[in-house]
Amino acid sequence: MSGERIGILGLGLIGGSLALALRGKRGAPEVWGYDRNRESLRMALSDRAIARACTEREIASCDIVVVCVPVLRSVEFLRRIGRRMRPGAVLTDTGSVKAAVVRAGQEAVRDGVEFVGGHPIAGTENSGYPAADASLFRGRTCILTPTDANTGASLRRVERLWKTAGARVLRMDPRLHDHVFAYVSHLPHAVAYALVHSVATLDSKVPLGYSAGGFRDFTRIASSNPEMWKDIVLQNRREVLGAVGHYRRNLSLLEGLIRRGDEAGLLAYFRKSKKTRDGL
Ligand code: NAD
Repeated sequence: MSGERIGILGLGLIGGSLALALRGKRGAPEVWGYDRNRESLRMALSDRAIARACTEREIASCDIVVVCVPVLRSVEFLRRIGRRMRPGAVLTDTGSVKAAVVRAGQEAVRDGVEFVGGHPIAGTENSGYPAADASLFRGRTCILTPTDANTGASLRRVERLWKTAGARVLRMDPRLHDHVFAYVSHLPHAVAYALVHSVATLDSKVPLGYSAGGFRDFTRIASSNPEMWKDIVLQNRREVLGAVGHYRRNLSLLEGLIRRGDEAGLLAYFRKSKKTRDGL
């Protein structure tokens, strides 16, 4: 990877953190950055997270381009950048939904260029370059979602990039990824938003100043970027709706146990959940 040039398109939480994580690492590539937000570019340059602030056209000359913009935006970029990159180059992304992006990315690239889907499992409820953190990926997992269109060499180049940033790398089928993440990430975010929404729309005023651990812990992720989560649930709509339906059935089951005053049933329900959570 040393001697390669990496282009990071979108220097927000994820792109900015990747640039900071690569800064000064042994064997790290030269990093160029592009973002429509000039202030983010200025900050990234002054932090030496990027060696050069470039244009969208210039970033296509890099050996590996990592697209780190919100998921619905990323498809447009893959289409534009993918046909301008040089043979031998690799285009990759960090989007939280994979099947549709991988399809679009692999269709978008010209001959000799490969698209490799990626999703770092790291983040916070904050967004933008000011939230970027050099240690965000340390000890975390980055999932790559290869298909038959990928060669081992390109996968290894993207893998090396994430390992240099401190992550361990796993591979997963793109559709399996979207199914799994509908349950372990997209549903919890949707439910957190719904829970806060249900309190925010109460007729009676519940003073949230009383909210101790439970409400705060459970709803932290409802402070996540609404724009980003709108994109994610829409792009993974089918899987997310499946997960919401499954959750609704589990909530109804709980409702029935409470209504019937079924002590044994409630204990069994809560114990099963506790055991699963304790095992994390
Ligand atoms: P972010 O909002 O922090 O950053 C996005 C950046 O893209 C911003 O700097 C913004 O200025 C830039 N951008 C947006 N539209 C642009 C355009 N048209 N042209 C140029 N720049 C543009 O978002 P993020 O949290 O860094 O998320 C980036 C990607 O990573 C998303 O696809 C998201 O699904 C994925 N992701 C996010 C998290 C998380 O927890 N935040 C975790 C894993 C993956």
